[in-house]
Amino acid sequence: MRSLWELARLNTAQRKELQVNPVRKMMIGAYAPCEPAVMDGIFSFLDSEKKYPLKTIHKIMDRFASMTINTTVMTYEEVVDFVKGIPDDFKIAKGPCACRLHTAEDLGPDAIDIEAGELDFCQQSPLNVDIQIATCAEKFGSLDTYEYITKDELLRLEKECHNMGLVPNVYMMFGGDAGICHCSSATCVPFIANRAIKGKSSVIKRGQYLASTDSKQCDGTGYCAKVCHFGARSFVPENGVGKLHVNKALCYGCGLCAVVCPQNAITMVSRF
Ligand code: SF4
Ligand code: SF4
Repeated sequence: MRSLWELARLNTAQRKELQVNPVRKMMIGAYAPCEPAVMDGIFSFLDSEKKYPLKTIHKIMDRFASMTINTTVMTYEEVVDFVKGIPDDFKIAKGPCACRLHTAEDLGPDAIDIEAGELDFCQQSPLNVDIQIATCAEKFGSLDTYEYITKDELLRLEKECHNMGLVPNVYMMFGGDAGICHCSSATCVPFIANRAIKGKSSVIKRGQYLASTDSKQCDGTGYCAKVCHFGARSFVPENGVGKLHVNKALCYGCGLCAVVCPQNAITMVSRF
């Protein structure tokens, strides 16, 4: 299926053409009202995690979902550019995150306050952070739970989600623009699944950047490990002292660690 980077090479007319595919329209139209029920099913399945090998269940769900969708992780700056580049006649709709409808109370707080410098996971992110675009916006926007918003309103939401340490990722469904999710590892099914299968998700694609750390500048505050939703950073005891360990293979390129590092020890570099 087409990736976000292939989509980025298309011009506006080609992006619009993808949206008018009647089969795609029909499938999105059928899926939109069913999404809460689909998530009900997934969560009942996950509730049985004590009985079934969780890793296997997540792998099956991930491979199944990847037949129709994929999502690419972005830095805040990239998602701002993406939003500004949405063709003007594509509708944008905002509604409740289907994952958080189920997980918010069960799994606890999932957001932080980056601006205040409080990096404890002390907040619950808001429910209405699911963004649908173009055909998806038309189909989801007709549901009572969704409202149409402008690009400026979406840019304000992006800022708000960034300040809460949520990861922006752009969804492609059946090969065209579909939506933007704002995820955390505490609440979002694809992220939970990805952690369970150790970064081998076929649904979540790594972004075009990678975090590079200058160990000489690092003073070991550990903020970066707190904000990484992918488990790419941890503190491993070495001679009785915790030492930052970075697993680059698990870095998806969200850039949050670079934002919170008080020593400016982290730079986002091109992955390619
Ligand atoms: S290491 Fe940094 S850039 Fe990479 S996924 Fe974790 S927080 Fe995001
Ligand atoms: S936030 Fe920066 S200084 Fe703190 S542990 Fe991470 S890299 Fe080191």
